Amino acid sequence: MSDSPGAPAKAPIVDRLALIGLGLIGSSIARAARRRNVAATIVAGDADAAVRARVAELGLADEVAPTLPEAVRGADLVIFCVPVGAVGVVAEQVGPHLKQGAIVSDVGSVKSAVIAAIAPHLPAGVRLVPAHPVAGTEQSGPDAGFDSLFLHRWCIITPPEEADAQAVALVRAFWEALGSNVEVMTPVHHDLVLAITSHVPHLIAYNIVGTVAELEETTRSEVLKFSAGGFRDFTRIAASDPTMWRDVFLHNKDAVLEMLGRFNEDLTALQRMIRRGDGDGLFDLFTRTRAIRRGIVAQGQETAAPDFGRRAAEAPPDKP
Ligand code: NAP
Repeated sequence: MSDSPGAPAKAPIVDRLALIGLGLIGSSIARAARRRNVAATIVAGDADAAVRARVAELGLADEVAPTLPEAVRGADLVIFCVPVGAVGVVAEQVGPHLKQGAIVSDVGSVKSAVIAAIAPHLPAGVRLVPAHPVAGTEQSGPDAGFDSLFLHRWCIITPPEEADAQAVALVRAFWEALGSNVEVMTPVHHDLVLAITSHVPHLIAYNIVGTVAELEETTRSEVLKFSAGGFRDFTRIAASDPTMWRDVFLHNKDAVLEMLGRFNEDLTALQRMIRRGDGDGLFDLFTRTRAIRRGIVAQGQETAAPDFGRRAAEAPPDKP
């Protein structure tokens, strides 16, 4: 394990690391693992020939395998970095080619459905330790990744009940070496927490930007012109990858619907306060929400400086 977050490991934690799916997250893991000496050999596998060619061009991996079975052959740690809806197909393809004792992990934003999709395809002796780095941007593809993406961000590990303790420890050490803070949760609890902290906020952003898109042409152009603050933040979130987010909502249906129900009740209460001119009620709520924002800044998960979506876009490109 490294001495401090993000410092290069003295010796690699993993001998052979296979990454399946070299988009934003997969390519960021490749960059961070190389920069921090976390894996002796990095192998890349992706269903898309154009992505494989770009990964080779950027020099993100030591080997770019032509097929997924070849990518995982002999690997000690295999991480699926594909959309949640694709993990089952990937597991089915690579399952028979996994090495005995290999650890399979993933980075999916949903955990219960991912475990259900992967587990049936893993041969006995292969250990499943799912994970979710709570870090990302609205960009996709191998060019979008950067090696500091996971630095000081949370990575949630969601081991199934029967998970091997040694494998869980290795996955924890891996993410800590990439600079992340690690927390362990049950998959069900993860899905509930992320539904309200990430999934519902994305749905709200998709909805408000969709509403504006439906407005009359004149109003819409004014909204775009004067969108200095709130709306601009929403457009950044609503620019997130459509495949990834479609899969998140389809695979975390129950938790999202539960949280959306609560959200709707609270929105109705707000509506009533406005209609009744309940200024005290509005002021109390806005005071409490301001304290939440300050708490997030105090925990180092955000800076107090205004962002409006620019910071991620301005992140310096990583030189592999
Ligand atoms: P991305 O940039 O779109 O990358 C996904 C990669 O996987 C692409 O290269 C894609 O190729 C490839 N792929 C798709 N289906 C595949 C298959 N069946 N076999 C092999 N490769 C396949 O997506 P991402 O943002 O890195 O997201 C990947 C995972 O990370 C998702 O599960 C997501 O929930 C999770 N995650 C994302 C974020 C975020 O902010 N983006 C944060 C945390 C976790 P094509 O694009 O050419 O099809």
